[in-house]
Amino acid sequence: MTYKIAVIPGDGIGREVTEQAVNVLKAVGEKFGHIFELKEVDAGGCAIDKYGEPLPAKTLEVCKNSDSVLLGAVGGPKWDTLPGSQRPEQALLGLRKGLGLFANLRPAVLHSALKDASPLKPEIIGEGLDVMVVRELTGGIYFGERGRDNDSAFDTEKYSVGEIERIARVAFEIAMKRNKKLVSVDKANILESSRLWREVVTGLAQEYPEVEVSHMYVDNAAMQLVKNPRQFDVIVTSNMFGDILSDEASMITGSIGMLPSASLGTGKLGMYEPVHGSAPDIAGQDKANPIATIVSVAMMLRYSFNLGKEADAIERAVGNVLDKGYRTGDIMSKGMNLVGTREMGELIISEL
Ligand code: NAD
Repeated sequence: MTYKIAVIPGDGIGREVTEQAVNVLKAVGEKFGHIFELKEVDAGGCAIDKYGEPLPAKTLEVCKNSDSVLLGAVGGPKWDTLPGSQRPEQALLGLRKGLGLFANLRPAVLHSALKDASPLKPEIIGEGLDVMVVRELTGGIYFGERGRDNDSAFDTEKYSVGEIERIARVAFEIAMKRNKKLVSVDKANILESSRLWREVVTGLAQEYPEVEVSHMYVDNAAMQLVKNPRQFDVIVTSNMFGDILSDEASMITGSIGMLPSASLGTGKLGMYEPVHGSAPDIAGQDKANPIATIVSVAMMLRYSFNLGKEADAIERAVGNVLDKGYRTGDIMSKGMNLVGTREMGELIISEL
């Protein structure tokens, strides 16, 4: 089967890590007999330099006509003085909006080989962690009515049944592909919008009898994530709560160069990217960890193309390379083998 993928390397280390992820994708294609048709397009600072805007119409059009989008990272000091609306990061907002991506998936995975990187005690981490935070991305208080009124200011949290149902459905489907445990996080003891959230999630649960669903208040969820993170499999929550909890969950893993993310819409098309930025401090030095982008490709295979076996193979290859003691600088520890971006990519491919 042929899959069309738009590739946006972007700026800084975005270009280096994307190159390795694309090599992994090609290797998966050869091994499993799939054709990945890749089209490279510009967005971010490099697009500002070439075309005067962070998200050229052609880039968005290519993405819309693809089965999925792989993005490195955008931004850098060169464009920091531009006004907000013209900055490279606008490309991300434009892509999310233009592609109708309303669900943000942020897995926080801590490999057992990297246990020491976590700021939590070893007995809390156990043999590693694997939590998936599913965040609503286009509604709630970040998009609600806001304003100033004499000496006060307000922001509005508003969710419709349709908005809650579609994000909850994404989370149930993901739970079905994982350990079938879903925690819906809200503040239903106080907020009316959270009470509706809880009603809708409870209603939808009837369609997924195999998934064990529970509800948790957001303040408790923030505590539980550091007290006993292994109790979680999939977490689903609103835009603002998800913004905060997904960062908290990822910090538990202690390694930003390892974390992938996915943004999904109603169809199969998704945008896959590492959580980290363009890291200008190490750009162009073959120092960046490409694993976050490589496992973003695994997410693409699993969630957009339903190629679970291929996704597992990538994740297993990454795990094996780590078990053998190879590390990029950001995850380096005593006695391990330091490798660069390119070598890490090559090691993962040979493991595949
Ligand atoms: P950053 O994630 O780029 O870097 C933070 C720190 O983590 C740096 O010390 C960097 O060297 C390190 N780091 C990040 N990724 C790494 C990797 N793969 N391997 C090894 N080390 C890694 O965040 P920042 O410094 O706040 O932002 C730099 C630029 O990136 C800014 O212009 C910012 O706006 C942009 N940014 C873009 C995105 C995106 O494209 N999605 C996300 C965040 C930041």
